[in-house]
Amino acid sequence: MGRTKADHARETKMSKTPLLMIPGPIEISDRVREAASSPPPSHVSPALIEAFGTSIEQMRRVWLAAADSQPFAIAGSGTIAMDVAVANLVDPGDRIVLVDTGYFSERMRRMLERRGADVTVVAAAPGDAPSLEDVDTALTAAPTHALFATHVDTSTGVRVDARGLAEVAHAHDALTVLDGVCATAGEELQMDGWGVDVYLTASQKAIGLPAGLALLVVTKRAMEIRHGLKNPPPLSLDWLEWRPVMQAYEERRPAYFSTPATTLILALHAGLDEILGDADDPATAMTSRFDLHARTADALRTAWGILGLTLLPARRDVTANTLSAISYPDGVGTELVGAIRNEGVIVAPGLHPQLRDTYFRVGHMGDVLTRPADVARCVRAVGLGLRACGQEVDIDAALAAVE
Ligand code: PMP
Repeated sequence: MGRTKADHARETKMSKTPLLMIPGPIEISDRVREAASSPPPSHVSPALIEAFGTSIEQMRRVWLAAADSQPFAIAGSGTIAMDVAVANLVDPGDRIVLVDTGYFSERMRRMLERRGADVTVVAAAPGDAPSLEDVDTALTAAPTHALFATHVDTSTGVRVDARGLAEVAHAHDALTVLDGVCATAGEELQMDGWGVDVYLTASQKAIGLPAGLALLVVTKRAMEIRHGLKNPPPLSLDWLEWRPVMQAYEERRPAYFSTPATTLILALHAGLDEILGDADDPATAMTSRFDLHARTADALRTAWGILGLTLLPARRDVTANTLSAISYPDGVGTELVGAIRNEGVIVAPGLHPQLRDTYFRVGHMGDVLTRPADVARCVRAVGLGLRACGQEVDIDAALAAVE
C-alpha cells in the first residue's frame, strides 16, 4: 500500500514523542484515541447503548466465537478477567491441569489454588512450552475439570499450541480456558472452530485500546458450569449478574448492574470496528490481521538476527508474533533498555523471575504495525542502543529487513 500524506504527517508527529513498543499498553490508533477522548457518556445514553451492543456482537466476530457464546466487557484489567474466569468455573476440590509457560501462568496457579482447586502443573523450562503429550499424560492421570493455559506468555514471548491444547482437553472432556491477554487479535484464534470454552483478554494489548477493560467470551457449555457451581463467585465478578446487562445492551436496551467504563466502551467499539474493517466475513478480516502480525514479527526476527541478537523462546513454533523476548548479547545488560530509550523508543526489560536480567522485550502488536516508519524507528533505536553499549552492528542491513 502507498504512503499517503496523512500517513506521513502522522509518522512525523509520532517521531517527536517516544514510541511505545512494550508488550502492552501499546500505541493506539487515532480513531481509538478520538473515541477515548469523547465526553464521558451516561451508561443509558443512546450512543453508549449502541456502542455497547455493537461491541458485544463484534467481540464474537473477533474471537471467531459461536453465535450462542456470551461476550463480557467489564471494567477491569487482565488480572480481573483471569479472576472472573476462575471464580465462575472452579469449585474447591476441582482438578485443574495448568500449562505453565511463565509469569502469568504462575499467577493463574495462585488464583486457582486460592479458589481451592487441586492444580496439576505441566511446565517446561523458561522459554519453552510443554509438549501436547505431557499435557495429555496429566489429563489422563485423573478426571479433570479444566485445562488452563496462557496463549502467549508475555514474560518469555512463548506461545502455546492453543488449538492442540483444546483438542487434547476435549478428548478428556475437560474445559479449555485460555488467557489471551497478550494474544487476542494478534495471534490466530478460532474460538468456535478449535473448541475453546473461555478466552479472556485485557484491552491494552493487541486488541489496541487503552487499559481498563476485562474482556471475555464464554461458550454456552462454560456458562452452564456457573449454574452448577457450589461456591458462587463474588458478586462483582459473577457472570450471572453481568450476563443480563450484556444481553440488554445487545438488544439495545439500557441496563445497570455496576457502572460500565462508558468511555472505554466507545473506544472498544472503535477498535473492534477497525479490526473487522469492511470484510464481509469476520474470518477474512481476522486472517489478514493475524497475517499482518505474523509477517511483521518475521521481519523483525530477521532484523534482530542481523543485529546479532537471539530470541529467548526455544523454537520457532513456540515463538509469539506479538512480542520479541530478546537475549542481551555478551557484554551487554539491562543498560540496553535505557540506551534504546535514549533513541526515543520504549522497550521493556525482562520479567521472568529466573531470567529477568538476561533479556529485554519488544512488543509488536496493533496499530503500530500499519506504520512502517515506526517499525523501522524501533529497529533503528535497538541498533543505536546496541552501538551505545559498545556493539558493532549493521543497522542499515537490519532496516532493510523490515522495509
Ligand atoms: N496475562 C497476560 C498474558 C499478561 O500479559 C498480562 C499483563 N501483562 C496479564 C495476564 C495481566 O493483565 P493486567 O496487567 O491487565 O492485569
